Amino acid sequence: MTPWRRLRSAALPSQTLTALKMLSFAIDANSGGARTGVLSFPSRGLTLPTPALLVYTRKGLPLNLMPDLLDELKDDGVTTLQLNTMHFIEGPSADTVRKAGGAHNFLGVQDYILLALGRDAMNFEGGGPASATYASFDTPSGRRQVTPEAYADIIDALRPDIFVPLADDIPSTSGRKRVKQSVDRSLSWLDECIERNKQGIPIFGSVQGGSNLYERPRSAEETAVRDVAGFHLGGFGLGESFDERPTLLAAAIDKLPPSKPRHVSGLSVPEEILQGVAAGVDLFDSAYPLSLTLAGLAMTFPVSHESPEVGSADGIGSSGATEGEGPALGADCSKLNLLSLALREDPRPLLPGCQCYTCRNHTRAYLHHLLNAHEMLAQVLLEIHNTHHYTRFFRAIRQSIIEDRFDRFRQAFVDRCRTTQIDVKPMAPKPSGRTSRIDGVHELEKC
Ligand SMILES: [Zn+2]
Repeated sequence: MTPWRRLRSAALPSQTLTALKMLSFAIDANSGGARTGVLSFPSRGLTLPTPALLVYTRKGLPLNLMPDLLDELKDDGVTTLQLNTMHFIEGPSADTVRKAGGAHNFLGVQDYILLALGRDAMNFEGGGPASATYASFDTPSGRRQVTPEAYADIIDALRPDIFVPLADDIPSTSGRKRVKQSVDRSLSWLDECIERNKQGIPIFGSVQGGSNLYERPRSAEETAVRDVAGFHLGGFGLGESFDERPTLLAAAIDKLPPSKPRHVSGLSVPEEILQGVAAGVDLFDSAYPLSLTLAGLAMTFPVSHESPEVGSADGIGSSGATEGEGPALGADCSKLNLLSLALREDPRPLLPGCQCYTCRNHTRAYLHHLLNAHEMLAQVLLEIHNTHHYTRFFRAIRQSIIEDRFDRFRQAFVDRCRTTQIDVKPMAPKPSGRTSRIDGVHELEKC
């Protein structure tokens, strides 16, 4: 019996039934806290294996990937896009998108799953001015105040497959009173978005609570009793440390029903993705492939189960970037700096053994030349490789969960793949005088 049919027998609100017809989730395997499953969209004939990467977009599409290039990456698992609601708040108008039949038609991505949310994965620090009636976001023309009503109107026009309601996302440095205010506001705005969701689009309720171990579970419990199809874990990547995060994730996830999918914002680099997967997160809206692309960097950390050139028996092998690239500025065992002079005559592909279009057809020397000439093609080719490589990383994660060896996979990645300092710096600086911002957990406080 499918989850939808099982739930249909109970007395559920009509919006819930509509959402369940549009989305269902089944877990296939667990490995420790990690889990793999399939998110299905029966009415659209689309499925998404989880844990999964939601590809970052600007104004609706990836920055450097033309639609035909995007289609070529489908076999790699690129089937779901994160749609930033704020990218549509200043134009085109909601009516223009509505008349086109929604974002799928407007953007020409009918065969893709769209998840809409207000937080920009590349540019968001949280904690902007907010009141009981609006949140504020940075946009290209300045800071904008957004009410739940205006937000719901954009969602109604976009008609995404899933949306995260307006939430009061705040940095981990926020005090207890402000955290409580954030939780209460986000719940109130969730109720308003549910009320205004006349199309029954599946909602991922936003769980807030900052670094407060009393508010995180309260937010999760309150969100879980509402009419939502899944959960968005908000407030991460906003100042909490790498070591604090597992406690905060567990505080929320322990209160959420395991049968519904979980999506997180703010976890981006491979170590953070592994951290989220270990906690039981299913969907990630990382912008890491584009961030590296814009910096002229190519992912080279090993991920393959299949390729002997870059993999080993346990799925973790030696990086293709270790030989001769040590002096390249910005390079380490996980990425290669294509701007480095050391690569100007290098005839090898970005990553030996990689089967992406870029690595099958071009050399490091050519990418180095394109970057120095400021040719747009450099970023197109880099984003193809980086997106392909990161989706292979997620595929390897799923396989390790199916084979119940995720912890070994994660530990091997940490032990072998990062010989230099990992780039997991929080976006906001830590406050002075405290090294932990988790309220109520004194054992984590350090001197
Ligand atoms: Zn490649």
